[in-house]
Amino acid sequence: MTAQILDGKETSKKLLDAVAEELSTLQVVNRPKLAAVLVGENPASEIYVARKMKIAEQIGLDSELHRFPETVSQHELVEHLELLNNDTLVNAILVQLPLPKAIHSETILETVSPQKDVDGFHPMNLGKLLLGIEPPALPCTPAGIIQLLDAYKIPIEGKRAAVVGRSNIVGKPITLMLTHRNATVTLCHSLTQNLDEIVLSADIVVAAAGQPGLIRAEAIKPGAVVIDVGINRLPTGKLVGDVDFESVKERAGYITPVPGGVGPMTIAMLMMNTVRLFKNQQGQSLHGLLFV
Ligand code: NDP
Repeated sequence: MTAQILDGKETSKKLLDAVAEELSTLQVVNRPKLAAVLVGENPASEIYVARKMKIAEQIGLDSELHRFPETVSQHELVEHLELLNNDTLVNAILVQLPLPKAIHSETILETVSPQKDVDGFHPMNLGKLLLGIEPPALPCTPAGIIQLLDAYKIPIEGKRAAVVGRSNIVGKPITLMLTHRNATVTLCHSLTQNLDEIVLSADIVVAAAGQPGLIRAEAIKPGAVVIDVGINRLPTGKLVGDVDFESVKERAGYITPVPGGVGPMTIAMLMMNTVRLFKNQQGQSLHGLLFV
């Protein structure tokens, strides 16, 4: 068997086209605006932010980049975020992570207004996710995974899922989202014993550990859905996920490539979240992803 590729590039393009279409029909003076805050000169962050800004402009969102040197104080950052919170022309705020070590990231993420929290990382929005209350914005990577599964009409309800990696931005929120969609989920981490055994029992595998080659074909249930979130740069310069793609694709039913799988879905969700926050601020009702 060779797995069907879950094409995040193509799926995200369709989603972005739909957002662009919606934006073109909006009867508003000011377009929804995304403000990105970038601290320091981390090359990967520079690339990610530039890509996000470019796509935002392409689909007709307003965007602006707020840059700060590595030496910025926490106090200055907090003050700036408060300005953005109070700026009625800014609908969505993105703080590019990671922040420099001297900055307390949790404090910064808590400073962003929950109503403008485009990444869904504010404790209030993550708390809503925990409680099963649709927040104004869901974390982009997990939300993108759910969108991708939905786009390919892959059933979630009643399925067994294994999530590998327990970060606050991917592992924990996707565990909650799959649970709200009535999957039975096991959340694994670096101290999990018998990882292969747990993964082998799963109908849906989400690999988000940042470990190239961690998920091998022997640990995949034939026909399983394999979602590879990992982004790892090999010494050769090649970009790979956490899944041994070549062998796993011969056993899985569906698989996401790296690149071209979860990555583009994450960016599409960021744009969709910007529009969601804009609509929410205007008192419009939101279409949910948590439940069907
Ligand atoms: P983190 O890098 O913060 O944490 C990694 C997680 O994986 C931890 O929970 C860790 O366990 C677990 N882990 C590490 N090694 C193993 C192992 N051998 N077996 C089982 N679990 C293990 O997670 P992120 O979610 O931030 O990132 C994960 C990967 O996803 C990275 O490659 C990152 O680049 C990528 N990513 C991709 C995105 C996209 O858009 N495609 C978006 C975000 C991230 P423990 O908690 O015990 O340390």
